Parts: sequence; structure tokens; C-alpha cells
Amino acid sequence: MVGVSALDLDATHDPTRESWIAVDEQSDFPIQNLPFAIFSTAERSPRIGIAIGERILDLRVTAEAGHFDAVIERSALCGPTLNALMSFPRERRRALRRRLSELLRVGGDSTLLEMPDALCEERDARLHLPASIGDYVDFYSSLEHATNLGRLFRPQGEPLLPNWRWIPIGYHGRSATIVPSDTPIRRPRGQRKPPDSACPVFGASTRLDIELEIGFFAGPGNRLGESIPVERAREHIFGCVLVNDWSARDIQAWEYQPLGPFLGKSFATTISPWVVTLEALEPFRVDGPLQAPAPLPYLAQSEAENYEIALTVAIRDARMRERGTAAATISRSSFAAMYWSQAQQLAHASSNGATIAPGDLFASGTISGSIDGTQGSLIELTENGRRPLRLPDGEERSFLEDGDEITLRGRCTRAGYRSIGFGSARGAILPALDSNSAGGDAYGELAQDR
Ligand code: MN
Repeated sequence: MVGVSALDLDATHDPTRESWIAVDEQSDFPIQNLPFAIFSTAERSPRIGIAIGERILDLRVTAEAGHFDAVIERSALCGPTLNALMSFPRERRRALRRRLSELLRVGGDSTLLEMPDALCEERDARLHLPASIGDYVDFYSSLEHATNLGRLFRPQGEPLLPNWRWIPIGYHGRSATIVPSDTPIRRPRGQRKPPDSACPVFGASTRLDIELEIGFFAGPGNRLGESIPVERAREHIFGCVLVNDWSARDIQAWEYQPLGPFLGKSFATTISPWVVTLEALEPFRVDGPLQAPAPLPYLAQSEAENYEIALTVAIRDARMRERGTAAATISRSSFAAMYWSQAQQLAHASSNGATIAPGDLFASGTISGSIDGTQGSLIELTENGRRPLRLPDGEERSFLEDGDEITLRGRCTRAGYRSIGFGSARGAILPALDSNSAGGDAYGELAQDR
């Protein structure tokens, strides 16, 4: 085990530090977190914000007042995305975090108290995608998930393919359809082959599913032809978000061999809007599971590279939403048990010399545990629909119905540290378009956020 002494901590992690802004004990956003998002309000165009309790610190307004001139260029803090800030070396990003903590803590630099427009209420804000995402990769790094899905998709064979314990398996997803929390998700149409039919059919997916994942945004990255060594990977990770990799299992099952997932996943991916930095996650860094066989040298890690993040998936169907019934939690798991770490994923993704650019998004793959109720997808939770879930209003679910709303949450807790969280990644299912229709209002709304 790597002890706490090996963690790279500073005063920003001090659990006794409080902000002069009141923050509830249960809040995901105490001063120890300081996550970044892009937000707008009726008066403010999209810009960088920092969450503190239920309020948002406007980074453009405070940067233009000169509050960060000593640590980072104003231009990196005043744009409509986080990409410029993500490109800075880790030391500069850490200096910004220390400065933010100093401005917001009790007993620190109190100059913000005289700047009433430095803050706004989160309830008045709209949250956007945090970055312009040039490239999106989804991995498949949970041993339990890969085993469960292998059994379901290839019942005759070995559940784990021979390469799985050697390579962090991944595929390129579609960055253009990544959407922020609360964007409606249109049920996809596609080609699928019913088991009792000789020919495939085209139509609305009948096996729409979720995937509970954590994603990371790349930091500075590498030049074409170079690689990011595994022991330096953390320097190139800006921070993490919750990811729901919506998946149409019927489309996926028919299309995925031999080249992997395509239209069964590319229709939409939801992320949480607040990016929790790797610096904020440092107190929760832990060893992952033992890897056997030992990874090849370019993937061999000598430090703890996993993170203790408790995760939940909750569902509300249309009737529960109408009645205001609380969402029902259907899965609880932890990110700590992932087989392949983010450091290994990034080292692998750049090992051939491919460029990693600031704002690229890398998702973990579905996070599943080994016991019932810890699986991160409906296909696993319901054993491919054989064992439907029962919701509080008596409804049964094997896969998602129109009107269902899914909420992912993540929270980090460790003795001796202040708990922090991710907020949420939420999305509700709209009915599929009928075959003659080209689009609807929800697509207009989605397009506005690009
Ligand atoms: Mn996935």
C-alpha cells in the first residue's frame, strides 16, 4: 500500500480550511474542491466559473480585475472554454488553485469581498460543455464489466478475450455528440437483428442502456511522434467528470464485430459539467487491484494511480417525475477497483506517438463491482433483461423506457479529509423520431449548446 505520506498535499487540502462563503457540510463543493465549469447567466456570456457551495466565482470578472496576474495569463482565464487553461503545466495550474483557495478562505486575501459581481448563484446559471473536445476515447477497463459483458455477448466462449489483461482496450467515440448534464437524449434508431429473424431491421432501439463511467480531460499532452510515460501521466490529466455512455445494446450487438462499437454509442454521451481537478482528488488517490500478469514495462506504474470515488446511479420514470418522487438508486460502486488506471490509459493512448491534446476526453469504461447491485449498466444489473428491476412505483425495467431519467453521482470520502463531490450527470430519454421525421425541438436545443 502507498501511505498517505506519499500523497502530494498542500494547504489547499487542509480539512479545517473554510470559505467565507457558507458551504453546507453535504455540499460537493467545499473550498477543498474548487472545480471548473463553463457557465452563463442572463447577464454573463459563457465563461469559466469555480463552484463554491451553491455559488459560482466568475473567473473572467476576477481575472480582469487582476486577481490572478501573479500566477497565470489573463487570456487563459477569460475564454469560453477551459482548453487554454488545460494546456498549462501542472505547476501553473497548482499555483492557480492555491490563489483561488487564498481568495476564498477565511483569513486569506479578502479583496473579493469588495467585488459584488465576482459571484453569482449556481441556480441562476446555465452550465455548458467545459471544453472544446477534439477527440474522445472510451476504454473498457473494469475487469468485472468486461467479464460480465463477455458472458452476455459471447455465451459460448471465454468471457475475457486474450488481450484484455495486456492492453487497456478502448475505441474512439464521437466527440461531437458529447452533451452536458440535463440535455435530453433522443432514443436512437438503427439497424438491429432480432434473434428470431433472418434479416436485420431498421428502427428505434428497444434495448437502450446506460454506462456509469468516470472520464478525464487531458492537460498539456504530447507532440506528434512522442509519448507520455506512465510515471508522468498525472501531469497531463487536468481533471475528471462523470460520464454516461448511453448505449443501444441491440444496435451494438449486431454491428460491433469486427471493428468495435459505432452507432450503438455515438448518438449521445452525457458528462457532468464541473471538472474536478486531479489536485482536488489527490487525498483520495489509492492503489488499484493487483495486475497479473505484470503489465509490459511501458505500462508499469510504481505509484498509486487509482481514485476512491463512490458512485451511484439513480432512475426516475415519467410517473415518478410527474409526482415528484425521489429517484431510486439502482447501483452503487467505487472507481477505486478499476483494473487499468487513468495513467496507464493515457500512456497507452500515446504509446504509438499519437498526439494527446488539451481538452481530449478519455472515459474509463463502465465501472462495475463484483457483487450484485454494483454493476454500472442495466444489461448487467438485469442479467440481459432476464431479471428486471422493480421501481418504487411498481414499474419494471430491463432497459430504458421513454421518459426515464438517469442521474449519476460521485463523491470522495477519506478519514482525515473534507469530502468532495462531482455534482451530477443527468439525462432523460425522449421518444425516437418516427421514420419520416428529420428532427425536433430537442435537437434544436442540443445544437444551441455546441
Ligand atoms: Mn462505455
